[in-house]
Amino acid sequence: MPMPHPFRKARRARILSGSPIAEEVWNWALSEHRIFHRLPPEDKARLRELATIFLGEKRFDPVAGLVLDEETKVSIAAQACLPLIGLEDGIDCYRDFTTIIVTEREYDVTKRDVDSAGVVHEYEDEFAGEAFELGPVALSLADVEASGWGDGYNVVIHEMAHKLDALNGEYDGSPALRQGMSPAAWQSTFGAAYEDLRSRLASPASRKPRKGKLRKSGSPRIDAYAAEGPDEFFAVACEYFFERPELLRSEYPDVYGQLLLYFGRDPAGAKSDA
Ligand SMILES: [Zn+2]
Repeated sequence: MPMPHPFRKARRARILSGSPIAEEVWNWALSEHRIFHRLPPEDKARLRELATIFLGEKRFDPVAGLVLDEETKVSIAAQACLPLIGLEDGIDCYRDFTTIIVTEREYDVTKRDVDSAGVVHEYEDEFAGEAFELGPVALSLADVEASGWGDGYNVVIHEMAHKLDALNGEYDGSPALRQGMSPAAWQSTFGAAYEDLRSRLASPASRKPRKGKLRKSGSPRIDAYAAEGPDEFFAVACEYFFERPELLRSEYPDVYGQLLLYFGRDPAGAKSDA
């Protein structure tokens, strides 16, 4: 449950004035990660404010003796807050969790599924991160370190996207939309793109891309993990939106358009200083 507003406001003012991010660490985080390079100055200032509150309100829980340095914490906070810059509720979008569990690398999880015949299937799965329903976020440090380079992979943004998705109930790839946005347009756009990706991955052309053939009808450039379910499609699309906006815009322009409306900003439109 969100804290009462006046209290929250006063507490955040105290965090902003009392626990600022050190100048050199902040400058390092911004220059280290390519995804921040093209942010206009006003967005950088907003990001710093959000990241400061994030660090004041969230708790890192490194496992098995792992020690996190200040640079890593600021780097996670800045990437986690990047999607919030244009969202009206800002940091309140992350109100359902406090703890960020950090593991050293990817970890194995034993999953249990029950099929329609009631038979229980148990299998091992490897996780780079996880967003628990109404609970903490888990991130593998090795994958955090592989994020932010502008290549389309970002475990922090991926897990935060799941948190945004879950704000209105379930992990279903349909977050609470901004006023004026059409849920029907969202559903049809994401539904069509998801089905398109699944069919392209299943087609022989995607397994054997031919030279000179348009990629659109062949191998998708979006990570195949997006085809795992509508919730994963949304999370992976968010990774590309902030990491490689031009690629997402060229693969799925309508998805890009919906994310642009939802996040209230156009990462591909911003000028690059890189
Ligand atoms: Zn996911």
